[in-house]
Amino acid sequence: MISFDDVHTFDRCPYAYKLDKTEAFPDKITLSECLSQSVRDAIHECSERRIIGYRIDEESVLESFWNQWDKYFTKVYNPNRDDPMQFIRIGEKCIRNFVSLSSEYAFSEIVASFMQGTLILPNGIEIRVNAEEVGRKNSTVTITKYITSVQVEPNEKLEYDLEMSALALWAMNNLNTEQVIRRWVFLLQKITSEIPADKASCTESMKDLSDKIKNMNSENPLPHESEYCPMCPYQSRCPRFLHELSVMKTGPDEGVKLADEYLEIEKKKQALKNRIELLTAEQDQIKAKIVAFSDSNGYMSIKGSDGKLLIRHEKKVELPDDKTKIVERLKTTGQYDSISMPNYPRLRSDIAKGIADPAIVEMANIISIGKIYIKKEK
Ligand code: SF4
Repeated sequence: MISFDDVHTFDRCPYAYKLDKTEAFPDKITLSECLSQSVRDAIHECSERRIIGYRIDEESVLESFWNQWDKYFTKVYNPNRDDPMQFIRIGEKCIRNFVSLSSEYAFSEIVASFMQGTLILPNGIEIRVNAEEVGRKNSTVTITKYITSVQVEPNEKLEYDLEMSALALWAMNNLNTEQVIRRWVFLLQKITSEIPADKASCTESMKDLSDKIKNMNSENPLPHESEYCPMCPYQSRCPRFLHELSVMKTGPDEGVKLADEYLEIEKKKQALKNRIELLTAEQDQIKAKIVAFSDSNGYMSIKGSDGKLLIRHEKKVELPDDKTKIVERLKTTGQYDSISMPNYPRLRSDIAKGIADPAIVEMANIISIGKIYIKKEK
């Protein structure tokens, strides 16, 4: 059965996800995973004690964190690549903030910690959901997710947290309530965000989750370069890094020479582009003056010494970003089918990903085109 750990690993890098699932190093983790897992397990231990009535104190939770860290650290791939002490300090800070926030959190009583359940998605796929903490006060259930990363998401983004939407639906189905509050605790920043779950929108978002899971079975997943790469156990086998590692071993080759030539031309193109932007801005100012001059004199063309300029007034239509009302109007007046179009960009993307209807794929012509994107070195 698929889990959200699988979904997160896939989001981080589809290529690494596939390797994780098929062949190498299934037991290895990164330092940030070691940190996250140790903090989570320490919180789990502590929550279990809280449920049976124990008060929590910082020292014992920290001790639990260190014990968990020792356990998980043995699994870390290449542990000295980054400074482990830095990660331990982050973990300690998360634990201190957790203890402090826990003493303030009196809204609901914790009834369960690290509860697991199963949700069936619209396409019939079963996904495992994991509630790190469940609280209940009267008929309101609060589900909590602890976050150890440095990034804080604004509330609009949290609304699209598919894991929490799935968990909220699971809670509604299994805990006999429609009133579920999603609670995110950003441990490092000591910030808490709470958003009530709406059943209709959570159900709607499960369609996106189903689509995403369909993509996870792609035959040829692409590597996704990110800040995770320096810690990735698969770097030595990753097509994104093979040339780099080969140059480190054997020195510059033909590839380095070609890349340098390409980047040199790119620099020249950039200088020209900057110059063109300046000229365009200058020209736009003159254009405004020409239009004003021709309008005030009733001219439709202006003669210069070397050529002639034609002045036209054309209409540019801009639609509002939110097109709900337009679509409603088109539907109620029977114009929708004749005016709207199928979503061709989406269809092309599904064909390229290999998830489109095979009968339509057969009708398409799929060409492989080599493109070059430049990655700026920091
Ligand atoms: S090195 Fe980066 S891009 Fe390559 S497999 Fe690992 S995470 Fe993906």
